[in-house]
Amino acid sequence: MTQSHGYAAQSATTPLSPFKFTRRELHDHDVHVDIQFCGVCHSDIHFVRNEWGNAVFPVVPGHEIVGRVRAVGSAVQKFKAGDLVGVGVIVDSCRTCASCKSGEEQYCEVGATLTYGVRDKYGDLTQGGYSNNIITDERFVHTVSSKLNAAGVAPLLCAGITTYSPLRHWKVGPNQKVGVIGLGGLGHMALKFAHSFGAHVIQFTTSESKIEDAKRLGADEVVISKDAAAMKKQANSFDFIIDTVSAPHDINPYLEALKRDSTYAQVGLPDKPPIINAGNLIFKRRSWSGSIIGGMPETQQMLDYCAEKNITADVEVIPIQQINEAFERVVKADVKYRFVIDMASLGA
Ligand code: NAP
Ligand code: ZN
Ligand code: ZN
Repeated sequence: MTQSHGYAAQSATTPLSPFKFTRRELHDHDVHVDIQFCGVCHSDIHFVRNEWGNAVFPVVPGHEIVGRVRAVGSAVQKFKAGDLVGVGVIVDSCRTCASCKSGEEQYCEVGATLTYGVRDKYGDLTQGGYSNNIITDERFVHTVSSKLNAAGVAPLLCAGITTYSPLRHWKVGPNQKVGVIGLGGLGHMALKFAHSFGAHVIQFTTSESKIEDAKRLGADEVVISKDAAAMKKQANSFDFIIDTVSAPHDINPYLEALKRDSTYAQVGLPDKPPIINAGNLIFKRRSWSGSIIGGMPETQQMLDYCAEKNITADVEVIPIQQINEAFERVVKADVKYRFVIDMASLGA
């Protein structure tokens, strides 16, 4: 067994605290990663607080992992000790269904194995990246360029791929007006990517204090979504809108902002479903859709694209001892724009 330690939640209502546990020994296809940085995703908070109703305890959250390879199993081809690598939201899948065969493991028909909070094929409860190490099959490990700041790369493993994938799927590019709803971890990456792909990007935010940052991050315009008159002015003008909001909110004013035949992609996953005025879809043949992270090949593609274009997340690096305050600040939409834990703070 491999000894590990990190921070875990013991229940939906207790703060995260130090936790010792074991991971499996290194199998032939496994990579042992010493974790350097782990991003704090709003999904960690939804899960730990049992807002989605699927929490399992104790849970070490964290699925935006960057670290160095310590050791590899005897059959590992892609990695060697010392490599800088990333691990994201899933650590296994069936590998034989149509989705897995086409490199869309996140849609595995048997159900992909999440990085924390589920039983894996060995019967172990998976534990995430708020910890000193992780053991993962090489198929679910990515190469990270050392050209980029490693702390800023960590959020690419979830916030990055979750926004890159739908923007690519719906072919966002030049001569398109694209909306990003919510300027948090996912939102600021959606903004950077949509801008980088050449679209005219409008950032929707509830936070007036984020207007200048939105422009710096690539927004051509910023709309305060609480301003009903400003929202009305956007009617029938968007080619694509991506919703990254973590809390329940009225999506109908945004549906009205789409052109005929355009798509609204849901990536934010609040604990309650939205109410959709069906007329907002029917009268303009609009689509309301959704997307989850991205497959392993596309995740590597996204990381390579970021290395080429020098794209990373804007991060506030914290020691793990501040994780409970960080959760509170994320819930208040008070983070610029992703907390990343420096795992050196965990100690030996
Ligand atoms: P985050 O950093 O907390 O950002 C969410 C943003 O939503 C906030 O910064 C805020 O932006 C806006 N917001 C918050 N409360 C709001 C409210 N009541 N009304 C309107 N806007 C509000 O969260 P995140 O880590 O980016 O995650 C966002 C959501 O995506 C979460 O639900 C998460 O679970 C989900 N997620 C989904 C996937 C996937 O694969 N589909 C992957 C990762 C995360 P402003 O201040 O600009 O208004
Ligand atoms: Zn996430
Ligand atoms: Zn599968």
